Amino acid sequence: MTFDELGLSPAILAAVDGLGYETPTPIQEQSIPLIVAGRDVVGAAQTGTGKTAAFALPLMQRIGVGDGVPLALVITPTRELAAQIERVASEVGKHTGQRVAVVVGGVKYPPQVARIKAGIDVLVATPGRLIDLKERGDVDLSKIQILVLDEADRMVDMGFWPSVRRILSFIPTKRQNLLFSATLTEEITQLVGRMLTDPAYVEVARAGTTADNVEQAILPVEQSQKPHLLAALIRERGADRILVFTRTKARADLVKMILSKDGFKVMVMHADRSQSEREQALERFRSGEIDVLVATDIIARGIDISDIDHVVNYDVPENPEDYVHRIGRTARAGASGFALTLLGPDEISQFREIEYMLGTLLPIYDLPGFPYREGRIVPFGSRPVKKVQRSVFGGRVMRRGPRRR
Ligand code: AMP
Repeated sequence: MTFDELGLSPAILAAVDGLGYETPTPIQEQSIPLIVAGRDVVGAAQTGTGKTAAFALPLMQRIGVGDGVPLALVITPTRELAAQIERVASEVGKHTGQRVAVVVGGVKYPPQVARIKAGIDVLVATPGRLIDLKERGDVDLSKIQILVLDEADRMVDMGFWPSVRRILSFIPTKRQNLLFSATLTEEITQLVGRMLTDPAYVEVARAGTTADNVEQAILPVEQSQKPHLLAALIRERGADRILVFTRTKARADLVKMILSKDGFKVMVMHADRSQSEREQALERFRSGEIDVLVATDIIARGIDISDIDHVVNYDVPENPEDYVHRIGRTARAGASGFALTLLGPDEISQFREIEYMLGTLLPIYDLPGFPYREGRIVPFGSRPVKKVQRSVFGGRVMRRGPRRR
């Protein structure tokens, strides 16, 4: 699907260009048409799924340019989230002439008040500061047509809910409501239930179309570290029916050479091999005679072996759909599986696309004893790598933020 198909106006589409987005993420695909149509929307989506644009783009299309009194109010729990929303909204504003103000705590009042007084269309706020400004008479909320509650679960966790309720009493009851939350607990649904009118529920499938019982993780490394890492990884996980995918035939052959030297029983399967050679390789893999099968994407769809428990992506697939096909080779028939992607610095942006498709950020797998420097390559540039946690994998997993504090 493309952004053109979501009912967005030319000005908003120009803003999408300005933001550098090419294809909508799942939450955007689902939410934008509903919001454009004026529906109340409840979205279950975490940070990193593209949820900010999912509400900001259609919201700004709907309200248009007003007379300076804000028409849309976005309430969000933290300054960082407010800044992120402002970035998207301001880019849209460049194309539509709409004005945006952000009011958050910990900053002096006068510049915020001046901005509001100069006339705005969209107000992005953290709850406490907004209430202060309202009580001081510095902001008029009587014309709000659209309310967004961003990260509602976090606002509840942080004890902001009474403030949110208070804010609701300042704004018109007839309005469009958009609520986003990483999780939709019963508590949240109950809290917001009464304020919503016939809401549409939108959920980003947590693991996309991939099997739910496949554990997935990434290993950010330099390309030069990959051969050594792969051998170490296979040893750590126990060399038993591991399927390795490479992007090219040449790289498949290279991996075979490296692993063979390391003492593993390896075969390759790619388009240069004859049909009978491929069948033979599959058969020997199936029977457990060989430990590792190295393959390219062309044949990923055809491999049907019931007990592959590890898929390793030596290279990130070119096409996000191939990722799903690759990891779909494991955990077949209800078994559990494990899929690891070795992520070179040059593959990070490509892998982002996969994570968008999956609607989730994959954790980083930390191979014990392998000397890759923690945090040296941090995918998603600005996001901090959080502290190391124990995991179910036997190794250690670092979760990538931003997450709850
Ligand atoms: P969010 O879930 O709103 O926190 O967005 C996470 C990141 O995804 C931000 O850095 C956005 O700029 C980026 N992003 C959002 N939508 C898209 C898209 N359609 N294509 C590429 N990047 C996107």
